[in-house]
Amino acid sequence: MLWPTLLLLGLESVRIAPGATAVTPFVFEHYPVSHSLLAVLLWALAFGAVHLVWRRNLRMAALLAGLVLSHWLLDALVHIPDLPLAPGGDARVGLGLWQSHIATLLVEVPLFVAGVWLYTRGTRPLDRAGRYGLVGLVALLAVIYAGNLYGPPPDSVAAIAWVGHAQWLLVLWAWWVDRHRASIPASAA
Ligand SMILES: [Zn+2]
Repeated sequence: MLWPTLLLLGLESVRIAPGATAVTPFVFEHYPVSHSLLAVLLWALAFGAVHLVWRRNLRMAALLAGLVLSHWLLDALVHIPDLPLAPGGDARVGLGLWQSHIATLLVEVPLFVAGVWLYTRGTRPLDRAGRYGLVGLVALLAVIYAGNLYGPPPDSVAAIAWVGHAQWLLVLWAWWVDRHRASIPASAA
């Protein structure tokens, strides 16, 4: 969620090059603040710390920090070696799953399905918003995913950045859905 803002500010850069990998038309030239391992570790700690101060729940804070870090780990699975370990350093990592269309689908689709399954298994709808709001969100995410894979590449970096900012609407939508669902205790689930 930081990356589009950093792109607009000119602090990070990306180039559109169709065919860069089988899956994404982007060449990630420079993104040390949003995507270096060291910076992401700090973002994860900061995110967890804010929650800890706010809610005083160490277990939840650690989980949220782990979720922030998970973005980098999942990126490391799919990106070609363009992820820096530290800002300013030369080391780049990435296992390059995006070089294979079919391998990407075989990993990313089950991961998404597993995430949805975990969430529906751990929560129950309190009303229609909680039920159909979730169905709509999952359907929209699937459509966006298909658009990313099979749609035309964006016209400009500015377009990437503005569409990226629109992702905050998905965050809002998810927050709204979650308010209309209740968690099921692990023993009952
Ligand atoms: Zn990323």
